[in-house]
Amino acid sequence: MATFMPCRLRANSAPGSNRIMVTARMCESGDDAGKWYTVIAERSGVRRAGYCANGCPGHDSSQSALAHYLQFQLDRETDLWLDRREPALECEICGARTTLRARLGRKTKLLVLCTQHQSTRSLQVLFERRLSQALEASAR
Ligand SMILES: [Zn+2]
Ligand SMILES: [Zn+2]
Repeated sequence: MATFMPCRLRANSAPGSNRIMVTARMCESGDDAGKWYTVIAERSGVRRAGYCANGCPGHDSSQSALAHYLQFQLDRETDLWLDRREPALECEICGARTTLRARLGRKTKLLVLCTQHQSTRSLQVLFERRLSQALEASAR
């Protein structure tokens, strides 16, 4: 496997924040300049994430880079049918009350999905919804 030369990526996480943020960044220098990758921004710096960290040729758009990361999460970091002994909450897709939860990614907030919506397809829908909300927020 080819060794990976990290290129310079600009992180814009707020100072003092230790929130780990997954986002797409365009590579600014080197052979991969102009290509998009999904990165994890932490206090210690920025590194490529998921499938984008391993032999990924880069993407033409941030959406395409994030879709690549979503695929990684769906393949490796997805938990479905988590039954919690907690009060029933409303399914994030249809609003039906359920004690079932799902998770996309490690150490992330549990998602509420009813029996009918326990699927990777639903996780994809929620991921895309979150993405468009984030894009709207950054366009403001
Ligand atoms: Zn990729
Ligand atoms: Zn539902």
